[in-house]
Amino acid sequence: MNDLIDEMEKIPGVALRRDELMSLHTTLGVGGPCDFMVWVSTKQALRSVLELATKAALPIRVLGRGSNVLVRDGGIPGIVLRLADDLNEIIVEGIEMHAGAGATLAEVVNRATAAGIGGLEFLAGIPGTVGGAVVTNAGAKDTWISDRLKSFSVMTEDLDEITYEPDDVQFAYRSSGLVEGWIVTDAILRGYACGVDEARKKVEEYLTMRRQSQPTGEKTAGCIFKNPPGDAAGRLIELAGFKGYRKGGAEVSTIHANWIVNTGGATAREIIALIEEIRNKVKELFDVELELEIEIVGRD
Ligand SMILES: Cc1cc2nc3c(=O)[nH]c(=O)nc-3n(C[C@H](O)[C@H](O)[C@H](O)COP(=O)(O)OP(=O)(O)OC[C@H]3O[C@@H](n4cnc5c(N)ncnc54)[C@H](O)[C@@H]3O)c2cc1C
Repeated sequence: MNDLIDEMEKIPGVALRRDELMSLHTTLGVGGPCDFMVWVSTKQALRSVLELATKAALPIRVLGRGSNVLVRDGGIPGIVLRLADDLNEIIVEGIEMHAGAGATLAEVVNRATAAGIGGLEFLAGIPGTVGGAVVTNAGAKDTWISDRLKSFSVMTEDLDEITYEPDDVQFAYRSSGLVEGWIVTDAILRGYACGVDEARKKVEEYLTMRRQSQPTGEKTAGCIFKNPPGDAAGRLIELAGFKGYRKGGAEVSTIHANWIVNTGGATAREIIALIEEIRNKVKELFDVELELEIEIVGRD
């Protein structure tokens, strides 16, 4: 296997580090080391890495900004892949944005606003990438990224490239139904023509709404649980008395009870224990099974 890793390092457009701590690459700031962290700059580099990983029987997980994952303290086995350079590019054409899957949503919002493209303002303040947003069908205030997708492309484990329109897959609340292991490489987002000032004003409104109701600027992963039908997870967690409740360095936000904050030095184990305690209490008090919105990954 070492030979294959050496070979991977030599591929043009590939950068590789061993034992990279996932706490450095997740917004919650927890998670042990992955075996190999690999940055790919081009589609060709991605293709070559996938080929070698298959030969070496190494599992691969793509990470965007790590803003919807909780990585366990033992880290992630195999390769953690990050998209870079060409795969982060955004090209604006009229009211359409051709975005590499590694482009950040912040960049999408900035570029859309500057070009007077409306309809993408809801992405402001979501600290993910286009790829992560497509996979999780990111959304805010009843608008989902699937509402603004013209198409998106994936690379399968067999190195096939497939382009989908949103109706071809099963987008739902915080899910896309995409096959695990497929890598989103790029997407075309479509907004509508509007004035730059109008788009800017809407972006500001979304950001203000977040500053007022969410613990922005802290180490978090956004909402921990999905909202159960007809209710809000945060409401139930607050009613159960968890606001401000702590386990080690992990604290239920005093601003929004569906958010857990790493106040410094929290471990994944502490956050998971807090999640379990909340889930059990909410079930006991309200007979509601809270489902995770974040994804817990890696080894103990
Ligand atoms: C402060 C804060 C606010 C947030 N607000 C919101 C919100 O309003 N609405 C919302 O929906 N979410 C919100 N989130 C959660 C999160 O930002 C979104 O789910 C975001 O879309 C995740 O993107 P990411 O690139 O960070 O994905 P990651 O967390 O890195 O990955 C998420 C999943 O997608 C997979 N993945 C990532 N990139 C690819 C790719 N290119 N191809 C295939 N699989 C991929 C990963 O393997 C993982 O399974 C918030 C998070 C934070 C920290």
